[in-house]
Amino acid sequence: MTNENNSYRGFKSKSAFMSFIRSGLRRMWGRQYLPKREFIAQNRRRVALGRNGALIWGGVCEHCQGEYKATEMEVDHIKSNHKLTEIEDISSYCDSLFCPLDNMRYLCKPCHKIITYADRHNLTFKEARAEKQAIAFSKLPPKKQNAMLEVWGEMDDNITNAKKRRNAARTHYLKQI
Ligand SMILES: [Zn+2]
Repeated sequence: MTNENNSYRGFKSKSAFMSFIRSGLRRMWGRQYLPKREFIAQNRRRVALGRNGALIWGGVCEHCQGEYKATEMEVDHIKSNHKLTEIEDISSYCDSLFCPLDNMRYLCKPCHKIITYADRHNLTFKEARAEKQAIAFSKLPPKKQNAMLEVWGEMDDNITNAKKRRNAARTHYLKQI
């Protein structure tokens, strides 16, 4: 039985319902949005990444210029306004999500993740990449972290806790090209 005080259109909460709507619309964009399919058809390339260098369908990442298999590529929205926390946002969310071809670009998954993170946190690509690398670093065992910091020359006597290790790692990653 549904507790009416505790439910929203059959969901636990309004935010659970909005999350359901968001993921449904995103799935439609991902699988069924025809302009997106057209964009991929126009931008895909044959790349020598199959078994023994066989030519298969893939693409060139607009950001890093690397060649990737089709399964490693994603279509990004150049300009986006993907906020959908209120029912009233649905119209503007659809305008943003279901955009024309000229607002799309083909990116490799790693670049797409970093660009999305950079947009969300108002960082440059390089800062976002370093931040994501530092987050991954912070999940390693402390001993391993210390060994890496030592190799990088970022180790000093002041690195006594997780936060300081993570900051030192970020400093290191920011120096990468
Ligand atoms: Zn890339």
